[in-house]
Amino acid sequence: MNAPFVRPPAIAGALLACLALSTAALAASPAATPNVLPAESRGVSPAPPPQPINWDKVTQEATDLLSKYVQIDTTNPPGNELGAARMLKEKFLADGIPATTWEPLKGRGIVAARMRGIGKHNKALILLSHMDVVPANPKEWQVPPFSGTVKNGEIWGRGSIDDKGPGVIELMAMLAIKRAGILLDRDVLFVATGDEEEGGKNGAGWFVDHQANVFSDAGFLLNEGGGIRALSDGKRKAYVVSVTEKTPLWLRLTATGPAGHASDPPAETAVTRLVRALAKLSEYKTPIHVIGPVQDYYHRMDELDHGPKQLLDLGAALKEPEFLKKFLSDPGQNARVRDTITPTVLSASQKTNVISETAYAEVDCRLLPGSDPKAVINEIKKAMGDDTIKIDTILNFPPISSPSRSPLMTAIERLAKDHDQASVVPSMIIGFTDSHYFRQKKIVSYGFIPVEVLPAQGKGVHGINERLGVKELSDGIKRMVELLKIFGSEER
Ligand SMILES: [Zn+2]
Repeated sequence: MNAPFVRPPAIAGALLACLALSTAALAASPAATPNVLPAESRGVSPAPPPQPINWDKVTQEATDLLSKYVQIDTTNPPGNELGAARMLKEKFLADGIPATTWEPLKGRGIVAARMRGIGKHNKALILLSHMDVVPANPKEWQVPPFSGTVKNGEIWGRGSIDDKGPGVIELMAMLAIKRAGILLDRDVLFVATGDEEEGGKNGAGWFVDHQANVFSDAGFLLNEGGGIRALSDGKRKAYVVSVTEKTPLWLRLTATGPAGHASDPPAETAVTRLVRALAKLSEYKTPIHVIGPVQDYYHRMDELDHGPKQLLDLGAALKEPEFLKKFLSDPGQNARVRDTITPTVLSASQKTNVISETAYAEVDCRLLPGSDPKAVINEIKKAMGDDTIKIDTILNFPPISSPSRSPLMTAIERLAKDHDQASVVPSMIIGFTDSHYFRQKKIVSYGFIPVEVLPAQGKGVHGINERLGVKELSDGIKRMVELLKIFGSEER
C-alpha cells in the first residue's frame, strides 16, 4: 500500500457487524456521502500503521486448516458441503469478518464472507473457490484420500489442489490482511460454493440466481483455472491467467427400433442404428479454428520459452499439413484449436437375449468460444446421416470471455513483475469452471490463483495422490496478500 489510510467510523461499525449473521451483513455497502470536511474535523482518527505479518504462524495455520478441510469428505455426488461451509464461516467469524452460509438443497452448502474496504465507490473483488471434490478410490492412493496427512512438506488428500488449497489461500490472505490492520480501498468477498464438479447448478448457479444482492457491487473475480508455471529453464516463471473457457454441449442421442427376442432379430434395431451413427460421427473432423486468446497464449509462451518459431503465429503454422499433424497429435493441443465431440456413455438392453426398443449414447462436446451450438448439432446430424436419431441437449451455456485488459489484469502484471520478475500470459482453458456464471453477470472473471503447483503434484488433480506443498501454499498466500494490496491500493 502506498498511502496511509484513515479508518472512518462507518468502517468500525461495519466490522462490528460480524455478529449479525444475516445476508444483510454481506450485502454491498450503501453509497457513501462524499467527505467534504477534513478527516480530523469529522472526529476521525488516523488508523494505526499496519502490523507486520507473522508468516510462520500463517503457514502453520493454513496447513492445519487445509488438512482439516480435506478431512471433510465433500465427494460430489452427493457433495454434502454444508459441514465445510460452516467450518469456513467460523474461521472468518473468529476474526471478526462477517460470514454467512446457505443450504441450497439438503446437506449442500455455500459460504460467503465480506471484508469491508474503505473505498465505497470501487467495485468489489470476489475470491471464488469450490468445496466439493471428485471421488477418490482409497485403494489407489499412497495415503487415505481424506486423511489430510501432512508428510514430507506436503498436504495430501483429495481437493488439496482442486479446489480446497486455493480456497485456503484466499481465506488466509484475507485473515492476514485483516489481522495486520491493512485497509484496502475496495471490499473483498470470499465465496466458496458446492457442486462445481457436477456443473454448479446447486452451487454457483443457485447463488447467482438467488443471492445476487450479496455481490451486486462486485466488478472482478478470481477463480481456479490458471496459476504460476515454471518455464523450461526451470528458473523463470509465467503467470497464466485464463480469460475464457470452452463451453460444454452435452447431448443425448436416442435411437429407436422394434423390441423383441434376439432369436429372431429384425434387420435393423435401435442398437445397430445407434452404432452405425456413432461410427460415422467418429469419422467427422471438426474444423480447425485458432481464437485470439489461444493465438496469443502460444505467441507469448513461445517468446518467453524460445520454442519453435511456428508457434509465434499458430494460425498460419497450422496451414502446413506436416506441422498440423504433429500439433494435433497432442490431445490437449488438439482441444485448443477445435470443437471436440466425444461419445462417453452407451446404454441399451440389460439382457443379452433381449432387443431393446431404445438405445442411447451421451456425447460430451466442448465448444470453442464463438462456436454456435445449433450449428454444431446440425453438423452432428449431417455426419450421422440418420434423421430418426433424436438429439436432446443435457447441458449447455453461452460462451463468454472476459477482456484481457482490465485493472485486475494490470494488478496481476504488477504482482508478477514485483514478486517473480515474471510475465503474464492470458489463456483459454479447455475445461470449464464456475467463472461463466459470474461472467454472465458482467463481472470480469479470471482463472488465476497465485500458486505454483509442481508438475508431480498437479498430476493428482482428478487423479491419485493429490497433494500441495506447504511452501507452495505459503507462497500462494503471500502472493495473494500482495495482489490484494496492489488491487486494493488507493491509487487504482
Ligand atoms: Zn475445480
